[in-house]
Amino acid sequence: MASNLHFLVIPLMCPGHLIPMVDMAKLIAQQTVAVTIVITPRNAERYGAVLNRAVASGLPIRILKLRFPALEYGLPEGCESVDDLPSFTLSKNFFDASAKLQQPLEEVFGELKPRPSCIISDKHLAWTADVARKYQIPWVIFDGMSCFTQLSTHNLCVSKSHEKVADSEPFILPGLPDSIVVTKSQLPGLFNPGNSARAKEMKSVREHIRAAELGAYGTIINSFEELETRYIEEYKKLKQGRVWCIGPFSQSNKNDLDKAQRGSKASINEHDCMKWLDSQPPGSVIYACLGSLTRLTPPQFIELALGLEESRFPFILVVKGGSRAEEIEKWLGEDGFEERVKGRGVLVRGWAPQVLVLSHPAIGTFLTHCGWNSTIEGFSAGVPMITWPQFADQFFNERVAVEVVGTGVAVGAKTVMHLGEEDEAGIQVKREDVCRVAKIIMDEGREGEERRQKAKYFQEMARKTIEEGGSSRHNLKLFIEDIMLHTNKGLAG
Ligand code: UDP
Repeated sequence: MASNLHFLVIPLMCPGHLIPMVDMAKLIAQQTVAVTIVITPRNAERYGAVLNRAVASGLPIRILKLRFPALEYGLPEGCESVDDLPSFTLSKNFFDASAKLQQPLEEVFGELKPRPSCIISDKHLAWTADVARKYQIPWVIFDGMSCFTQLSTHNLCVSKSHEKVADSEPFILPGLPDSIVVTKSQLPGLFNPGNSARAKEMKSVREHIRAAELGAYGTIINSFEELETRYIEEYKKLKQGRVWCIGPFSQSNKNDLDKAQRGSKASINEHDCMKWLDSQPPGSVIYACLGSLTRLTPPQFIELALGLEESRFPFILVVKGGSRAEEIEKWLGEDGFEERVKGRGVLVRGWAPQVLVLSHPAIGTFLTHCGWNSTIEGFSAGVPMITWPQFADQFFNERVAVEVVGTGVAVGAKTVMHLGEEDEAGIQVKREDVCRVAKIIMDEGREGEERRQKAKYFQEMARKTIEEGGSSRHNLKLFIEDIMLHTNKGLAG
């Protein structure tokens, strides 16, 4: 069908961006479009198992490895992903180093066969717009966020409503189909950057990205029409229709191996983990994971752990200590927590095979930080969610889960936790909050049952939408046709 097409996929090297783009590449390649993923050697290794299996299965995917100039930009050798940064104060260095991939990419561009028909780039890599312009191909962006977030961001940029309120004063997000209340201190960095030196440095990066984004040919979204229907409609109107919702991308992982190896090698033996889940009653386990970047301070981690313990439900708790790992381990050792919860609670230190875990029938709820990937993975798994947003678009995603879709219950986080400034925010959520909300969400009464039914409904929608006849499959075909038309016009002209 589309054998002369070739899409160049350029991800931001950060799990929450790279993981969905690898999934997306597979979905596109399944439509017989050749895809080349531009990636660095360490990431090619990290995502290699999944990518190599996709290639071996016959999908037309190629990997273009470019050296990442970590050392030249003051980053440790081998630091090629945002979650490898020793400190988020180095974020700007990471963005600057990423921009240096432009020249090596342009050096090999002419050798790419067939000639690339478009670039699908993470929007945070604004330099890729220059490459697309130079070779006169469409620059399509992906940023891993929902249409709710896209629309809210656009409306805030235009109305500047957030500039008229105090930090903690609730206000209604302008121009949305529903009346959704937030505070300024819950908004993403573009509107609420924080006061650190990092925030000041990142301000110019963010503004540059925003300006470039407005010139994109179109936008790919990891969402589906049945999930946030009216938000998608409104956003499409704003973008003259060039918005293609083709998710949920995680659904591209059909077998357990792909689910288990997605994103990184799991820090727990998947078989042991699944065996333990097999031993638990259906819908009884809380899976608690706050994404790839969140590092809870030790006092905040303790509140989460003790809240789960007090709830008396079985749980899996993913521990990402980062530079605070030692302090967390010290507490775990001294407090006797692991001993007390033995058999009922499993700790995963490092990387959890999230999509695999979520697919297990024993999982009853997902305690999530509401990164958009996790949120949509939660919808796709058909489990209600305890929402605990931390930063970026996560408070918006919480509103999607709690108010738009109605399968989430908020744990009560009040303000964004700026990356690298977690200590200043203190304890946002107490153990009694975790315990109380766990009981609400696992409730066997009518309310809990309705929430579970709703979650199952969206699980079914998420499954069907990427199948033949589903809206996301249809949108993917429309996207490919659009690029094909554009390419043919270019050839004729
Ligand atoms: N993830 C995972 N195991 C972990 C942590 C994260 O598989 O231990 C995956 C998760 O399934 C999701 C991605 O990493 O696909 C995280 O993206 P998200 O947007 O949820 O949050 P971020 O990490 O960007 O804050």
